Amino acid sequence: MDDFDVLVIGGGIAGMSIAYELSAAGQRVCLLEMESTLAYHTTGRSAATWIGTYGNGPVRALTAASHDYFLRPPADRYEEPLGKPLVVLHVGSHGLGDAVDRLHDDVAGLTPEARVIDAAEAHRLLPLLREEWVESALVEPGALEVDVALLHQGYRRGLRGRGGEIRTLARVDGAERVGERWRVSASIGQEFTTSYVVNAAGAWADQVAAVFGAAPVGIEPRLRSVFMVGADHVDPHMPMVLSVDPDNPFYVKADSGQYLCSPADATLTTPHDAKHDELEIARAIDVINEATTLGIRGIRTPWAGLRSFVADGSPVIGPDPLVPGFAWFAGQGGYGIQMGPAAARLGAALLLGRDVPEDIAATGFAVESVLPGRLAD
Ligand SMILES: Cc1cc2nc3c(=O)[nH]c(=O)nc-3n(C[C@H](O)[C@H](O)[C@H](O)COP(=O)(O)OP(=O)(O)OC[C@H]3O[C@@H](n4cnc5c(N)ncnc54)[C@H](O)[C@@H]3O)c2cc1C
Repeated sequence: MDDFDVLVIGGGIAGMSIAYELSAAGQRVCLLEMESTLAYHTTGRSAATWIGTYGNGPVRALTAASHDYFLRPPADRYEEPLGKPLVVLHVGSHGLGDAVDRLHDDVAGLTPEARVIDAAEAHRLLPLLREEWVESALVEPGALEVDVALLHQGYRRGLRGRGGEIRTLARVDGAERVGERWRVSASIGQEFTTSYVVNAAGAWADQVAAVFGAAPVGIEPRLRSVFMVGADHVDPHMPMVLSVDPDNPFYVKADSGQYLCSPADATLTTPHDAKHDELEIARAIDVINEATTLGIRGIRTPWAGLRSFVADGSPVIGPDPLVPGFAWFAGQGGYGIQMGPAAARLGAALLLGRDVPEDIAATGFAVESVLPGRLAD
């Protein structure tokens, strides 16, 4: 039977990053992933952006505190920056100018460089956007295009370099409390003992909690579809365009010489190997063809992933209030990449009983907003 200080369940960005931070803090860590490949589920299916105005207050604070990591990642694990500059246009079509103004009011404090522009300027910045479709837009100049694979690899290399272990094809399916420790079982007769367990199981986090006798926090996996559109020439520096229309959302960005498009759907579902939603993709094609000159007739490589939220939209980070030796690192929603580096440092600090890291506290971040206890009945 293998013995560790901490078992981390889940090999996506959440699990890998917190496993690294805990091993860097001197813990003997083992990461368990049920699939044969790491980052197979949501982490491997994202749109790979850092957008400072995304999400609620706690998400924006953790996103801001992660910014430097993408531009100046630690030299022992990365040879190049993980983020490249990206301009984002949050566009309102006719009747949605107020929504653009409200977004601006909401984000002005944290993103002072964001400003509202008219249709002509939006068209000048992104010529494929039809000027007559636009009422106004919020331009966010300081977003980033992120290399998710490199981000994940750097944490993995760091974990291994500190003696941490990684087991794939290890679905955690049983646990019992023996004294002050856990005895944990995973696929094909694997057995472990550990002082602490971190639940970083993404869409499956409530199911994993049940194995340890912890109450669910109300994880809602929401399906998001993506598809690619080919073109003769795609400007790699074009702004990403996001519709602010809650009833007919979409986004488009340049990606590897193609357009990456999404209906920005958020359909409630159950944990599973997600498949794209054809109806949502058809809707997105209609609205993208209305809003732009892309003229989409066919698509390539559709895919989908599960963005997992709890009711208040904040992540769930920290020790379970009732189950000893069991901590949450879940509910990353649509922000698990962009807030990943700071969230992992915070998660490790809370598990080890340390203070919130100073740079995170300096953003005005309130730790109560992410603790699992806030979700108890
Ligand atoms: C289309 C799309 C676009 C997105 N775009 C962005 C973006 O631009 N920027 C951004 O920041 N975020 C984005 N996101 C969100 C981001 O991808 C997620 O927040 C993040 O990947 C979540 O990581 P995770 O590690 O929590 O989940 P996952 O990557 O799903 O990892 C959880 C892991 O737990 C494993 N697991 C589950 N149960 C068990 C068990 N019993 N035993 C062992 N292992 C188990 C699973 O196999 C899985 O590998 C996007 C998501 C989608 C779907």
